[in-house]
Amino acid sequence: MADNDVDLFVIGAGSGGVRAARIAASYGARVTIAEEFRVGGTCVIRGCVPKKLLVYASRFGHEFEDAAGFGWTVPTQPTFSWPTLIANKDREIDRLEAAYVATLERNNVNIVRSRAVFEDAHTVRLLATGARVRAETILIATGGWPHMGPNIPGIEHAISSNEAFHLTELPERIVIQGGGYIAVEFACIFAGLGSKVTLVYRGENILRGFDDDLREHLRNEMTMRGIKVLCGHTIDAIEKAGDEYRTSLSDGTSLTADKVMFAIGRRPNIMGIGCETLGMECHEHGGISVDEYSRTSVPNIYAVGDVTNRVNLTPVAIREGHAFADTVYGGKPTRVDHADVPTAVFSEPELGVIGLTEAQARDTFDIVDVYKTTFRPMKATLSGRATRVFMKLLVDGISGRVVGCHVAGPDAGELIQVIGIAVKMGATKADFDATMAVHPTMAEELVTMRERAARYTRAAAAE
Ligand code: FAD
Repeated sequence: MADNDVDLFVIGAGSGGVRAARIAASYGARVTIAEEFRVGGTCVIRGCVPKKLLVYASRFGHEFEDAAGFGWTVPTQPTFSWPTLIANKDREIDRLEAAYVATLERNNVNIVRSRAVFEDAHTVRLLATGARVRAETILIATGGWPHMGPNIPGIEHAISSNEAFHLTELPERIVIQGGGYIAVEFACIFAGLGSKVTLVYRGENILRGFDDDLREHLRNEMTMRGIKVLCGHTIDAIEKAGDEYRTSLSDGTSLTADKVMFAIGRRPNIMGIGCETLGMECHEHGGISVDEYSRTSVPNIYAVGDVTNRVNLTPVAIREGHAFADTVYGGKPTRVDHADVPTAVFSEPELGVIGLTEAQARDTFDIVDVYKTTFRPMKATLSGRATRVFMKLLVDGISGRVVGCHVAGPDAGELIQVIGIAVKMGATKADFDATMAVHPTMAEELVTMRERAARYTRAAAAE
């Protein structure tokens, strides 16, 4: 084999690529990473981090209102400045990007600011300079990209989540198409900041793939907060009329708004990098096919993160990048366990989820015990806010193991991180029951649910 310029060339400096590059370099590999946009990738630049900052901002409105019940008088009607929020958010993103760059440099990773494409299985070309780099191993960590759906008339007027972070002003009215977590989160963000929001979703209910009771609960809560949720509809055309946009819906009605956003899913970012010329296999959902060590069908090329379309979350991409580096450079072959990944939806109220939905549990186990509760959170008693917490535990009726936990309520994302440990360890309902409650908290309900709401047996279902 000809001499290589580097041991590892990483395409994409997002969650997975940065971690893989840093760990590989720490094992002594000569590493170059190419980034065509900004170091940090989707999560840091236009995903999790800026979104969470917007989520924080969106929750203050209710806090000001709720304070009154606790004796506070907020002297004047609070006002909100979108440009201030965006400028402060951008400053924080700049700081984080610089921190990512510094970490890579400290670990002797060479960063090139360019789009990289394959020349052959061992060579990439940098489009910024035309330079070619030869590498023994190449890691594809190019992430995903918003999918804008079928080419409906006027789709060029719609924004994706990428642009939502850079609007010059807060839209008074926004129509969002989509029912996944990004659509739902942005609907809640805009509504919390004062926009009039309509969420248009093709399916029968938002958050396909989540537990049905949880979906129903969130939809009701969102509706109570003034978000119009239109399921079973699609936007079929968008027309610009002056400063406004008229969306034509599939039922023949129309909605006028100041912005139209599409958040109908993301696709693996493989267009134009040359994977097809290498004969690299992709799976039916469009992601690059990899084995359990993230190796593609081309032996010296690996892929991690959203581009593989396994579990498209930052911690998963990071774990996959780390496992790749441990496997290839650390002498520690490491597989990533993709089961029971806890996750949150930063809606209002927040959702925290781990394990199986009720439908999945009933498909998997012979006996499923369901425990669920809904109650008014203590804070709402004085604030008077109309909101309820929802919690559900799914238990394998034979082993007693908790196989699913679904929470809607304040800080559910924080809560599910910890519940996730118990579920991952195989905790049983008896273990939950044996744990002393922390009082007064919302989470105590998880260890005090004694009454079974339902028991499903496969035998009864078959009758
Ligand atoms: P990315 O982080 O997307 O990084 C890929 C990088 O590759 C990008 O920087 C891109 O510019 C670069 N690139 C692409 N092609 C090339 C090329 N040919 N040459 C050079 N560079 C290239 N996940 C969570 O866990 N929690 C959340 O709350 C959450 N919220 C999200 C909110 C939004 C709005 C979005 C869009 C995503 C969110 N995610 C969240 C998902 C999370 O951001 C991704 O799962 C994660 O970033 C995937 O990491 P990655 O390394 O696979 O790819």
